Amino acid sequence: MNEYGENNSRIAIHTVTTRSWKLDVAIRKFKDAGIGGISVWQSFLDDFPLKDSAKMLTESRLKVVSLVRGGFFTGIDGDLRKKSIENNIRMIRQAREINAGMLVLVCGATPGQTLRTSREQILKGIETIIPEAEKNKVKLAVEPLHPVYSDSRSAINTLSQANDIVEKFNSPWLGVALDVYHVWWDPELYVEIERCGRNDHLFAVHLCDWRVPTRDILNDREIMGKGIINIQEIIDKVKRIGYNGMYEIEIFSNEYWSMDTDIFFKMILESVKQYNLN
Ligand code: ZN
Repeated sequence: MNEYGENNSRIAIHTVTTRSWKLDVAIRKFKDAGIGGISVWQSFLDDFPLKDSAKMLTESRLKVVSLVRGGFFTGIDGDLRKKSIENNIRMIRQAREINAGMLVLVCGATPGQTLRTSREQILKGIETIIPEAEKNKVKLAVEPLHPVYSDSRSAINTLSQANDIVEKFNSPWLGVALDVYHVWWDPELYVEIERCGRNDHLFAVHLCDWRVPTRDILNDREIMGKGIINIQEIIDKVKRIGYNGMYEIEIFSNEYWSMDTDIFFKMILESVKQYNLN
């Protein structure tokens, strides 16, 4: 136990959150703060040979929650879609190498083709990689993205859509990643969380907050408690369906990234104290 209390053992931090820290530094800082887990963004595996990253992660005893992020299944050009499948397969194998429990899927959307076409390509892509996930014992987590990203990042925009996909394939290796930033506005959110619960499909929960006003559509996420999302209520809902995984902190923010990372990190740890995670 440390000065920040027991919540820290239930949280994992995405390396992109503290992005000025390379993997070795992030591991050390997270360990020192009593953080329970880490979710590794793929670019952070570029700094060291993969086996060295894997060794550092194993020795740290941090739970490697996720490798982030695969998916991006859509494309007008068939060759591009084929490359995307190859990349996903490579990432599933990387996830296994670093002992990550899952690969997060941001599903993709391509301007110039309809959302319907993108959604068909996403289904096809997921279907193609499930056997590789099973073979490597790496779970796949479909993360619905806020509709504002449906132009070019993801044609999967609600928890309902994500639930439809995972129920269609009905594989123990396929579930959902719920990011409060993407789904907080949805009037069906709690019904859909219960639906996840009935099928054991909730694999991950990502936390941050929604800043008002939002100044940048991608990189203006808030620290928990400083925005308008009722985070504790969402946490209570996922607890009620039996979620006992990590709460992953994922904050992209030009403002906080321009700050000293130690100070930003301390602000995150302070904000975590206000929640009842256990
Ligand atoms: Zn997320």
